[in-house]
Amino acid sequence: MAQVNRLGYLGIGTGDADAWRGYATDVLGHEVAPASDDHALYLRMDDHHHRLTVHPADVEDALYVGWEVGDAETMDALAARAEHAGAQVVRATPEEAADRRVLDLVHFVDPHSQLRMELYYGPEIIFTPPYAPSRAIAGYKTGDLGFGHVVAYVPDAEKAARFYEDVLGFGVTDWIVVPGIGRIGCFMHCNARHHSLAFFANPAAPRRVQHVMLEHTSLDDVGTAYDMCRERELVNVTLGRHLNDRMVSFYFQNPSGWNFELGWGAREIDPDTWSVQHYNGLTPGGGEWGHDGLLNMT
Ligand code: FE
Repeated sequence: MAQVNRLGYLGIGTGDADAWRGYATDVLGHEVAPASDDHALYLRMDDHHHRLTVHPADVEDALYVGWEVGDAETMDALAARAEHAGAQVVRATPEEAADRRVLDLVHFVDPHSQLRMELYYGPEIIFTPPYAPSRAIAGYKTGDLGFGHVVAYVPDAEKAARFYEDVLGFGVTDWIVVPGIGRIGCFMHCNARHHSLAFFANPAAPRRVQHVMLEHTSLDDVGTAYDMCRERELVNVTLGRHLNDRMVSFYFQNPSGWNFELGWGAREIDPDTWSVQHYNGLTPGGGEWGHDGLLNMT
């Protein structure tokens, strides 16, 4: 069955692109791609032309999420399935594809998260010069796993999960269940990364995206970022280890006022043999060490 291969890129809307430029280079160690202009700040963190793009907008939220597929045929097959499931699929113009630095893409608004999801193939890869971090870090774990994960708010996590299973070929890794209430959180995979996409049920969500995670290749990179974010009073969730992907991470406020997570050391899964698991949402302390503030995070 045709399916999405990995999380490829993210578009971010903001009223303060200058603040994002400073934050991305000072804290994240990202490189500002030379093609950046007033319309798009392209941020590079590996051998792709960019992974994050910051656009001037009147919302502080994610604007679109890019999912990489293998080829044009797969993209068309997934577009047909999304249309069959009731989504309005739009084929991008050549200018839009050029802006994203991909060969071609289609997009639709996910009826659950209301996020614009883009399915693309053929990203621009830059062999040389290699990614040059803007601060002294080892770098990011990306490659076949994609650039990280995106967690979105939805009214109903079970309905959202079904859409991504049926339409884009994702698998459920695990659920957070609150006894008496039900399944409130769903973590989904499209490759060996424990989750590339997750949903939290929250009908009164303040925005579409809850947080975005980037994974470092070195724990020291997380540690030095943690020091920097504590000094700037940006930390919203302290350092800790997650119960499901077993990632050591912390959460901190980006210039748009929502959270990024920086992590290291997550376990990987085998999508071919994985069996769905669940965690009890009422476990004291959230079932993890550290991560103070996680249960109140919005
Ligand atoms: Fe996360």
